[in-house]
Amino acid sequence: MVYQTAQHLMGEIRRLKAEKSVYIIAHYYQNGDIQDIADFVGDSYAMAVAAKNSPQDTILVAGVDFMAESAAILCPDKTVLSPEPTATCPMANSIEVSDILRFKRDHPEGLVVSYVNTPAAIKAVSDICVTSSNAAKIIEKLPQDVPIFFIPDQNLGRNIAARLDRPLEFFPASCPIHAQVTPESILEKKAQHPDAAVLVHPECDPQVVALADYVGSTAGIIDYAAKSDRRQLIIGTECGIFHKINQVCPDTELILADPVLVCQDMKKITLEKILNSLQTMETRIKVPEDIRVKAAVALEKMIEYASS
Ligand code: SF4
Repeated sequence: MVYQTAQHLMGEIRRLKAEKSVYIIAHYYQNGDIQDIADFVGDSYAMAVAAKNSPQDTILVAGVDFMAESAAILCPDKTVLSPEPTATCPMANSIEVSDILRFKRDHPEGLVVSYVNTPAAIKAVSDICVTSSNAAKIIEKLPQDVPIFFIPDQNLGRNIAARLDRPLEFFPASCPIHAQVTPESILEKKAQHPDAAVLVHPECDPQVVALADYVGSTAGIIDYAAKSDRRQLIIGTECGIFHKINQVCPDTELILADPVLVCQDMKKITLEKILNSLQTMETRIKVPEDIRVKAAVALEKMIEYASS
């Protein structure tokens, strides 16, 4: 059967997900039509919590692979579907288990704080996971006198270390999208839009962060935009976030800080692939049980520390 329009696809997805009782969770970096058919849209922290609390036994994750893996880790009794399992995060894949074991060997008392943008095998050898929305809060609660290896995003790590005035050890990886934003591009946009506020994600370079009026996770940026009285906002994170900000403040002009802010992996997920996934109930994401159990400890600890 050939579906001619997005409206047809969205209608069929809504019909099938109701018929098969599938709970669709999407990230803010997904295209707007995917956010519109999702039961829940959030940042990676909120997606993990939503998966854990999912009212249905089948969860479809519209996001990159580590997001679907996190759902499978937290919900071992549920079926977790990915509409496009090759959608991945190059930064998450940059670190090896051996990098962590080397730190642990050199610093037996040290702690490994793993950004949630990591594969399950990395979470399994980490002490605790964090996301950009809770990393500072969680690290503040960790013992002060032990070395911390923050992996894998060095920009996020450097921005948190500066905010907390605490030294952290970093791994030399960064998001290939956010890391391309330059201070020059922010200054150029500010010159073009002098009344605009600058809102950026902490995966950006610290020099970019230094120029911002607000630094926060995708959920934080949306919240700031909703409460701001500025009618122009320069946005320094992936362009998919415009969909939600347009909903919460439709009269605000949004300016993308740099045209590089498009994650091609996030955009690999399409309405067609979601429909196909619902029809075939594939691809099922499974994490080997020995890894899942250890990774769940780091993720559950994140949820506990972030919510207390
Ligand atoms: S935006 Fe960056 S960190 Fe997020 S999935 Fe894409 S490459 Fe990974």
